Amino acid sequence: MTQKTNTGLSLTDLGEFGLINLIARKVRPSSEVRIGIGDDAAAFAWHANCLALATTDMLLEGVHFDLSYCNPYRLGRKALAVNLSDIAAMGGRPRSFLLSLAIPNELSVDFLNDFSSGLLEIAEEFGVTLIGGDTCVSRSGLVIGITLYGEQEDQMLTQRGTARPGESIFVTGYLGDSALGLKLLQEGQRKGSAIDRHLDPVPRVHEGLALAEAGFTCAMIDVSDGLLSDLGHITGKSAMGARLHLDKIPLSPEYAAHFGPEGHERYSLALGGGEDYELLFTAPAYRKSEIEMIFRKLGTPVSEIGEITAVPGIRILSADGETLQGIAPGYDHFLSRKETRQER
Ligand code: ADP
Ligand code: MG
Repeated sequence: MTQKTNTGLSLTDLGEFGLINLIARKVRPSSEVRIGIGDDAAAFAWHANCLALATTDMLLEGVHFDLSYCNPYRLGRKALAVNLSDIAAMGGRPRSFLLSLAIPNELSVDFLNDFSSGLLEIAEEFGVTLIGGDTCVSRSGLVIGITLYGEQEDQMLTQRGTARPGESIFVTGYLGDSALGLKLLQEGQRKGSAIDRHLDPVPRVHEGLALAEAGFTCAMIDVSDGLLSDLGHITGKSAMGARLHLDKIPLSPEYAAHFGPEGHERYSLALGGGEDYELLFTAPAYRKSEIEMIFRKLGTPVSEIGEITAVPGIRILSADGETLQGIAPGYDHFLSRKETRQER
C-alpha cells in the first residue's frame, strides 16, 4: 500500500467506537475465532496437543519510534512484526492478537487508518487474526501494545537454555542493517535497504516453524537486542559459552559498502546493534546440510557463525584464529545503544 489516506477527519469526529469499527472492519474472519472484536472477551480455539504461547511488546512514541520519519503504515507492520518474531523464536505458529492503543487526541484518523492497514496486512500475510484490544486517550504520545498468541507442540518448542557444547551457531539473514538504518534516518536519509530493514523488519516465522518441525532440539532466540547480547542469553541460560568467527558474520551488500572492507570496526553494528529480528539458533554440526537445505527452500540466507563451548564467556576470533581483545560483551567499544538503536 503506497497511497496515504487523506480524509482530514479527527478523532473527535470519529469517537472511540468509531475508531474500533474502523479497525474491526478490516479484520478478515477466521474459523478459529469463535468470538472476535465486539464482546467483553474473545474466544478462540487451540489445536489439539498444542501448548499456547503468549508474548507482548509495547512501542512508545519517542522511545521506540519517532513520528518524524516513521510512516504509519510501516509502524503498523513493525508493531506486529516484533511480536511475530518472538513467536518465531519459540518455533511457534502465531494465531491471534490483541491490540491496545493509547492515542493522543490530536492524532489524525488518517494516521490511524494507515496504521491499521499496515498492521492488518502483515497479520494476513502471517495468518493471524486481531481478536480484540483496548483503546484510550494518551496525554503524552502514541502507545501501541500488542499481545500475540501462538501455539506449538510441547516437544517442538525451541527455547534459549538448551544449547550444548560443540553445537554450531547459526543466524538467518544479515546483521546490523537495522542499526545502520536507524543511524541513517537520524542523519536525515529516508531511503535505502537498511532503512527499510529498520522500519519494516521481516519476522522469520516460516523459518522458525521449519526448524521446529524438522525436529531440532536446538536453542533459539530472535536478535532483537543485538547479536552479542542475544547470544549471551542463549549461553547464559544454557550455562555455556561460545566462540564467534568474525569473518563469518553475515553482512548485507549495503552494510558492507557503507563500512568498507577493512578493520574490525565495520562489525560494531552487526555485533551490537539491535532490531534485526533474525533468528539465532544452535544445532548439532552434522545437521548443517539439512539446515542449508531447509533455508534454500525458504529462500532465506543462513550462516554458521560459531560454536557453543563448555567454557563460559563469548570469544570472538578473527579470520586467522586470533582472539580479538576488547570485543566482548560488556566492552563498550561498540557504539552506545542510544546511538545504534532506540531503546526497547
Ligand atoms: P470492555 O468495556 O468490555 O472492555 P471495550 O468497550 O473496551 O470493551 O471494547 C469493545 C470491543 O472492542 C472489545 O471486543 C474489545 O476487545 C474491542 N477493542 C477495543 N479496542 C480495540 C482495538 N484497539 N483494537 C481491536 N479491538 C479493540
Ligand atoms: Mg466488558
